[in-house]
Amino acid sequence: MTTKSPRRISILGSTGSIGVSTLRLLDETGRLGEDYVIETLVGGRNVALLAEQALTYRPAITVLADESQWSTFKELIGNSGLEIACGEAAICAAAARKADWVMAAIVGIAGLKPTWAAAGTGAILALANKESLVGCGRALIERVESHGGKLLPVDSEHNAIFQVLEPAQRARVSKLVLTASGGPFLGRSRDDLKAVTVEQALKHPNWSMGAKISIDSATLANKGLEFIEAAYLFDMPASQIDVLMHPQSVIHSMVEYDDGSSLAQLGSPDMRVPISYCLGWPERLAWQAPKLDLAARGTLTFAEPDLTAFPMLRLAREALETGHGMPIVFNAANEVCVQAFLDRRIAFLQIAEFVEAAMMRAQLPSIPFMDHASRDTNDATVTRVLEIDSDIRRLVSELFASAKLSA
Ligand code: NAD
Ligand code: MG
Repeated sequence: MTTKSPRRISILGSTGSIGVSTLRLLDETGRLGEDYVIETLVGGRNVALLAEQALTYRPAITVLADESQWSTFKELIGNSGLEIACGEAAICAAAARKADWVMAAIVGIAGLKPTWAAAGTGAILALANKESLVGCGRALIERVESHGGKLLPVDSEHNAIFQVLEPAQRARVSKLVLTASGGPFLGRSRDDLKAVTVEQALKHPNWSMGAKISIDSATLANKGLEFIEAAYLFDMPASQIDVLMHPQSVIHSMVEYDDGSSLAQLGSPDMRVPISYCLGWPERLAWQAPKLDLAARGTLTFAEPDLTAFPMLRLAREALETGHGMPIVFNAANEVCVQAFLDRRIAFLQIAEFVEAAMMRAQLPSIPFMDHASRDTNDATVTRVLEIDSDIRRLVSELFASAKLSA
């Protein structure tokens, strides 16, 4: 009898919402140590949790991003004999280590370099960090595939589409339908959104997530990023992607075929479900998954998105249609504005106003664009994306300054 060696698992962003759900799922399989071993854990700032995870799961290496907490981290790890490191270069080196399965769950464009490094290893790349894909476009997918790996979408909508899109019937797909819960402000008018607070915006009705994606869900920027993500993942034009409001988050997305059939994936709003699909792929993982009780839920409802109250969805679509580097502009401006909103420097509606202003200014010839449809898997692609990202961060700071906000 041959014994299979355990799969080596790396988790980039292990202390975040997705990272913690991934470790929980691994625990729940009861197969850690036998079927799975942890190769790498990467965390940003939460040293206490990262140290606790390292001591529990004993990865080959644990890396902390925040250099100012290095000495605290070292103390917490003590003389446990664990290998630890700190800083961005160490994160990228750890992400480039040979693993079988990598969860890319760092938030924002900060995840790009580590995700890119992992994409060059030939591992299965479970991608939660949508901002990386929005930044690099098809080049990230090409990089994974050209190294013999496979990119699997963790985002529940894209995971749903991945599950029901039959590759052999790809040519018969007429629409991808992304469902959207609408976040905490669904149904509100633009006027009703003027004075909403950070606390209200952070309170997602169905999902428990990190702060940035929670605000993105409240503005519908998250659905906008997902619109772009879907176009790249499934090679679909904007005209064949629809967004459908569905507050119960039961149908995670749908594929409409040209013979009139629509196939959907349903599930509880629990990220362990799409994560488990990625972990088990190409099979399905056996675990005590939360099951749907549709009779108890009763009603599922649907509506068109309100693009007047939630312009971020329209702006994302425009960014995709403009192409070149415009999705990078949309993403960078949004990241800066979300942080400014969380810091209470701008109001909720100003997020979209500043993003739109940045997109208009970025069209000036002074912003050199990369060809965003490029499939160039060279490292220069990442350098270029990050240059545009920095240019746009500077531009938004200037826009804040001229609006008399502190940069
Ligand atoms: P989070 O804020 O809870 O966690 C982010 C993780 O990234 C943390 O471990 C943090 O320490 C780490 N991090 C932050 N900055 C870093 C840096 N500079 N270097 C290294 N690590 C850093 O976020 P989340 O909700 O888990 O989301 C993670 C990603 O997954 C995002 O891109 C998000 O859009 C996507 N996603 C999340 C959900 C969800 O339900 N939370 C669903 C779909 C997609
Ligand atoms: Mg999603």
